[in-house]
Amino acid sequence: MTIKIFNTINRKKEIFKPVKSGSVSMYVCGPTVYSHPHIGNARAALVPDILFRLLKRKYDNVTYIRNITDVDDKISDAAFKQKKTVYEISETFIKIYQDNMASLDILEPTYQPRVTDNMPGIVSTIEKILKNGFAYISEDHILFDTSKYKEYGELSKRTLDEMIDGARIEVADYKKSPRDFILWKPSSNDQPGWESPWGLGRPGWHIECTSMIKSIIGNENTLDLHGGGNDLIFPHHENEIAQGSCMSSSKYCNYWFHNGIVLVNKKKMSKSLGNVILLEDLLKNNKSNSIRLALLSAHYRQPLNWSESTLIESNNLIKKFSSLARSFVGDINKYENLDNEIIDILSDDLNTPEAIKHLSALSKAAKTNQKDLASLVVSAKFIGINLLAHNISTLKAIDEELVKSLVEERFNARSSGDFKKADEIRDKLLSMGISIKDLEDKTVWDYNPDN
Ligand SMILES: [Zn+2]
Repeated sequence: MTIKIFNTINRKKEIFKPVKSGSVSMYVCGPTVYSHPHIGNARAALVPDILFRLLKRKYDNVTYIRNITDVDDKISDAAFKQKKTVYEISETFIKIYQDNMASLDILEPTYQPRVTDNMPGIVSTIEKILKNGFAYISEDHILFDTSKYKEYGELSKRTLDEMIDGARIEVADYKKSPRDFILWKPSSNDQPGWESPWGLGRPGWHIECTSMIKSIIGNENTLDLHGGGNDLIFPHHENEIAQGSCMSSSKYCNYWFHNGIVLVNKKKMSKSLGNVILLEDLLKNNKSNSIRLALLSAHYRQPLNWSESTLIESNNLIKKFSSLARSFVGDINKYENLDNEIIDILSDDLNTPEAIKHLSALSKAAKTNQKDLASLVVSAKFIGINLLAHNISTLKAIDEELVKSLVEERFNARSSGDFKKADEIRDKLLSMGISIKDLEDKTVWDYNPDN
């Protein structure tokens, strides 16, 4: 199994090879914790989750780091508006973020470093960049001097003018060039601040990721994989490369992967349009399996257009797969290698739409073949869709053992020609919210409380 990934820095699909054989390091920019996660945040966590699962299958030692930005002006603004402390806001939304991701069966990264726990490391990274001559001090700000780093622009392939016109570039008097970016800025007494050789202040956003990566993998080590949304390519990831390359003699990162945006009915999500879809709201009315499948329905590098039908289609597929899976008898653990085909599909630049097609093909074959049914269950499980487990709300609502024994009792009644008893049992099941379907040699069931 060879993993291929589209490497943004070279603009082509490449065979992935870690720096150290058998051991992989991956970093993904995590959330800034000041509001409820939306489906865009979910996609940004789910894409690396699929890659993490693949890497873990192939390599013994995978270190996956996803940071938490818990100091930021957006958090300070939210705290001010809600009359709370920055700490209260960040703690609240860290918990919500982690709960939402767990609901979607997104695996926990190996490390989830917080910016506020890493201030000494951030300060010493900035000191190294200053000492190496790639930064300057101006009006109590420490700025990265982009004119000194000749490869600046290598990831985004932007020209000087494009960079200056680019989004999120702040023009300020204290900068030698508008391209230069902040490593450290001063804090007033009512702003979050930490003591530093340059007085009370706080870090710029870009330096946080670079120092958290280096503090975990080591200053002189190269990161294997770095991911994030493609809106982070410039300036955030461009700046990370500049910082990382100027504080250490080793290459910063070998493979960069970026996921596309989530659109809602072909429009960008925004507060002003009122079309932001929060995970919390989705999870209230939908099974996590369906949300997960919907988020995987487009290739990760393409935009994902979210609409009512995206979720309905995924829901229908999950219903079909789940009711088939319930007719599975035996020990699923005996079929562990049956997911090889889906692994091959995903190894080619995380082709999740193709993986879903594969599940559909298996589901057709699974109606008559127990091995294909087992393959459907283990392949779905590989992408984090557990067809044998019920949602917590479903588990509370039904007694699965009772349902199984009634379905079996009815099947036996039918087989022996006792249709009156079979109908009575069916009515009882219906009243419990269980719908059943008779196939040639078995009966499959599904829990549909709304039907
Ligand atoms: Zn980052």
